[in-house]
Amino acid sequence: MLELKNITKVIGEKIILRNFSLALEQGKSVAVVGPNGAGKSTFFKLAAGLMQQTSGEILLNGEQIKKKSLLLKKKVGYLGHESFLYNALTPIENLTFYGKLYKVKNMEEKITELLRAVGLHYFKDIPIRSFSRGMMQRLAIARVLLAEPEFLLLDEPHTGLDQEAVSLLNQLIKERQNKGVAILLISHDFEQVINVCDQVLILNKGKVVDEKDIDHQAGLMPFKKWYEAAVSRK
Ligand code: ADP
Ligand code: MG
Ligand code: MG
Repeated sequence: MLELKNITKVIGEKIILRNFSLALEQGKSVAVVGPNGAGKSTFFKLAAGLMQQTSGEILLNGEQIKKKSLLLKKKVGYLGHESFLYNALTPIENLTFYGKLYKVKNMEEKITELLRAVGLHYFKDIPIRSFSRGMMQRLAIARVLLAEPEFLLLDEPHTGLDQEAVSLLNQLIKERQNKGVAILLISHDFEQVINVCDQVLILNKGKVVDEKDIDHQAGLMPFKKWYEAAVSRK
């Protein structure tokens, strides 16, 4: 269980998150939606230990978590706008670097498996500086899965992916969820939200303003209406 308790985050004069609390259970897939500037990315960075909260605490399986702890980075996989990849290195070299850092068991085997899974097997020995955005994102996905995190925080992971890569990503997410991994997904694309997630939270102005289980049969319209109503409420 990953818990955020009464988290407030102030940057400069601005309160980005205000007394924010959330408990994430294993095996759940939760979408986080909300207008631009709502605090979604800040929430993920705090939960992944990339940023320090102004007040409140973050607990991983009951234990207080320090910013930048290696354990946290291993257990909480974060895929954000930064790729954390090295341009001069090949996919194999990039993944080997992270595999060693996180002390991944059967590393070579897992790297081969992941590069196949994301469709980069034939490019494994080419420095990634020549990669397209989509290829970079495929490798970033492999990187985040390599440490076998218990929580996967995916901030707009579908952005810039072609249709094939979107299906592939959604399949990888589902596989992890079935193994008990908790998925948190930020997306502007409501279609991905209802395809991938079982539950959704609406974040607005640094607070969760509404939440519900997703009805996969209902389609997009009721979802959009519910969202619009929630974000337009005071
Ligand atoms: P979202 O991901 O929902 O679009 P963010 O978490 O990125 O929202 O940002 C929430 C608010 O915090 C925005 O108003 C943004 O401008 C502000 N913000 C985020 N990071 C910083 C920063 N490093 N310095 C100043 N303001 C920031
Ligand atoms: Mg934004
Ligand atoms: Mg964001």
